[in-house]
Amino acid sequence: MLRTRGYKYELRVNNKERKLLGKCASISRFTWNWGIANRKQRYRTQTGEARYTDAMKQHKELNHLKLTEFPWMYEVSKCVPQEALRDLDRSYQNFFTNHQQIKRKQTTRYIGLPIFKKKGKCKDSFRLTGAIHLFPKVKQVQLPRLSKLRLKERPNLPVSARILSATVSRTADRWYVALTVKEEQPDCNPNDGPMIALDKGLSVFAALSSGISIARPKFLLQQARKQGRLSKAHSRKQKGSNNKRKSTLRLARFYRRIANQRHNFLHQTSTYLAKNHSVIVTEDLYVKGLMQNKKLSKYWADLSHGMFQRFLAYKAPLYGSTVIEIDRWFPSSKLCSKCLYYHRHLTLADRAFHCPLCGLVLDRDQNAAFNVANYYTIYQFLLFPVAESSAETLNACGEAVRPASEQARIDESGRTAPRTVCNNCS
Ligand SMILES: [Zn+2]
Repeated sequence: MLRTRGYKYELRVNNKERKLLGKCASISRFTWNWGIANRKQRYRTQTGEARYTDAMKQHKELNHLKLTEFPWMYEVSKCVPQEALRDLDRSYQNFFTNHQQIKRKQTTRYIGLPIFKKKGKCKDSFRLTGAIHLFPKVKQVQLPRLSKLRLKERPNLPVSARILSATVSRTADRWYVALTVKEEQPDCNPNDGPMIALDKGLSVFAALSSGISIARPKFLLQQARKQGRLSKAHSRKQKGSNNKRKSTLRLARFYRRIANQRHNFLHQTSTYLAKNHSVIVTEDLYVKGLMQNKKLSKYWADLSHGMFQRFLAYKAPLYGSTVIEIDRWFPSSKLCSKCLYYHRHLTLADRAFHCPLCGLVLDRDQNAAFNVANYYTIYQFLLFPVAESSAETLNACGEAVRPASEQARIDESGRTAPRTVCNNCS
């Protein structure tokens, strides 16, 4: 089976190359802004179908303007503006599709119109297609109109991989190239490890159903003082001065270091879980909602649970394991993992779960992890049975959308009663 995958490498660039890459990023940003302005003007001045355009039409229009108004665009590959206009077109398509979905009440997520990019405020990047070649032995990559650029490490692309595009981007003072490739996915044997469930949280990064907890790393919080010092120094530099430029770079390097530490932790944890377990059961955390709590948002942001979930999702098939996301409304923290008692009055301050019915005393996160494991092994068949004809455990939309708190009926004694209606049909 063919799959699309990205490989990212750091570039070892000299000052001349650095300048050229910066020029490409500037032209990409300029084209994006020109595209928005062009669409807005067209919408205001034209009527009927002529009010709308697409990437191809805009690229033709830009090619005419290149001769007279923007001759400096010839200094870089034609792919740079072309891909920027394609990206812009995709952004507009997403906006229009989302607008229709909101009208039909299919989603509550709002996607806005594309906005102008400002130098220094947006990420410097551009994409290239066409003649892209890798030279692993000499650690080089050849990009259109950029000749051969040196890489800091030997690329480890599979022989069967076909390069589709290369995205060059800058983080602080380092340049990276991300190659999007189409490669053959080798058939891997199903993972024969045990099943594991995890409850993601704040006090610990994740509590596992095997009884261990993954401690919460404090990447940014640990260096809050340094962050404050650098930010303060940066804010006191005169705008446009050399010192301001230097302090911007210092701050950007600081954030890059934090991001790298975070990525390293998330990659190691997700790889360990995917490599050693056949089934990984996790909660579908509503990270965006959690981030709205102003007091806790910085703690949630520092953990990056959303990114962790994405890493798990793409790594699991590589190691023959499966990731199951359970309903976000399943009350994993409030249920007793031993007797199913629903602890209605449990608050965030209660770090231990005391069951008044069976007397179970357990760490709150651990209890939740056991509940998530029980959900996969027992509850899903009792509360959310799947039609016999279907091998799928998810509904047609890919997830259970109705709150489990509504579905799981709770009797007077506090025990949850099994639900007999099929979730896929109701
Ligand atoms: Zn109990």
